[in-house]
Amino acid sequence: MKHRDSTKELSLKVSPDILSLEPYRPGKPIAEAKREFNLKQVFKLASNENPLGPSPRVKEAIEAALVDLHRYPDASAFEMLNCYSQHINVDRIRITFGNGSNELIDLLIRLYCESGDAILTSKAAFVAYRIGAQAARVRCIETPLSPEGRFDLSAMKSALEKDSRIKLIFIANPNNPTGTLLSGDELRDFLKFTSRFDLKVVLDEAYTEYVTSPQYESGLKLMNDFPQVVVLRTMSKAYALAALRVGFVIADEQTIDLLNRIRNPFNVNSLAQVATVAALQDQAHMRKGLEHTWRSMDLWRENLKSMGLTFFDSQANFILCDTKCDSAKVDLACLKQGFIFRPVRNYGLMTHLRISMGTEAENHGGIEALRKTLREISAQTGAP
Ligand SMILES: *Cc1c(COP(=O)(O)O)cnc(C)c1O
Repeated sequence: MKHRDSTKELSLKVSPDILSLEPYRPGKPIAEAKREFNLKQVFKLASNENPLGPSPRVKEAIEAALVDLHRYPDASAFEMLNCYSQHINVDRIRITFGNGSNELIDLLIRLYCESGDAILTSKAAFVAYRIGAQAARVRCIETPLSPEGRFDLSAMKSALEKDSRIKLIFIANPNNPTGTLLSGDELRDFLKFTSRFDLKVVLDEAYTEYVTSPQYESGLKLMNDFPQVVVLRTMSKAYALAALRVGFVIADEQTIDLLNRIRNPFNVNSLAQVATVAALQDQAHMRKGLEHTWRSMDLWRENLKSMGLTFFDSQANFILCDTKCDSAKVDLACLKQGFIFRPVRNYGLMTHLRISMGTEAENHGGIEALRKTLREISAQTGAP
């Protein structure tokens, strides 16, 4: 068959923004690692998932809902929204939902940004912000991370003064991949400053449940004083429903109304809806997961210290450490031992490894694999 000559005939032009898009690179799938390295068992500590899994009530709810697979889901997700509204004590007209918070990031950009507009975020912030912007032909301005691995709010203020087309600011709090936190006071000062611009400040609180710092203040509280605040939440982390793709956005009534107009009507499927209700109703199970995570974080911190490694001060369910070696090398050596960690070279951090908390056995195994790897590398290079 002869192809049309695209230089002569009309051709569909694709924007350079799209052509230069690098697809999101998720953590290596377990099955792929098994095939590649011929391993029987592989443990994944790479995607900030909850290793204990969801409440047993989730499985029951899904099984009970299977009889209705031939029906479309409730497009308004009435029960799920009610349940979440009660859970966070916010009126349902100020909440809507997405196919994971990832979809909500895209929808917010589509809603508030036109070609030529910009979003503002930080380097080494969640990569979905940049991908979402680029896919929508929207500029993405990134200020450098502070030395402690936090969003540099004064650099963001300067960026705001230089570009009048910034419509959305994305701040992950705690941040991924660093796990670091901005305090309520710091955010209030920044929100006061941004009040004179016509924009929204999106606080992505995917890890909010894990935070223990008394200095933390959720956007749900901040939005009472600052109407430009938009909050993102997810069922993927503490509630362990990553596979089902449910996220929530909490904002002013108008933003929610507009998001409901542009989102797909059935963006959260019926199994995900009943699972979310069941997971929210079992807070005791969720708390058990948090306590396990906090114990795991203590174990990892202690062991990373004893390996002589430094790490950022994480308030999430993962820890970003500096291996002081080429992280691709460390990653490969750990993979061969059956442990998947997450190098974060795509964030410009060439020697860092992000480690998600696993089960107790996975944590101990992961620590030993990393220790062995670093010992071998230092023996090869003669480093101390
Ligand atoms: C994991 C994560 C999310 C969750 O994304 P979903 O699409 O809801 O699974 C959102 N934001 C950040 C910063 C994350 O790390």
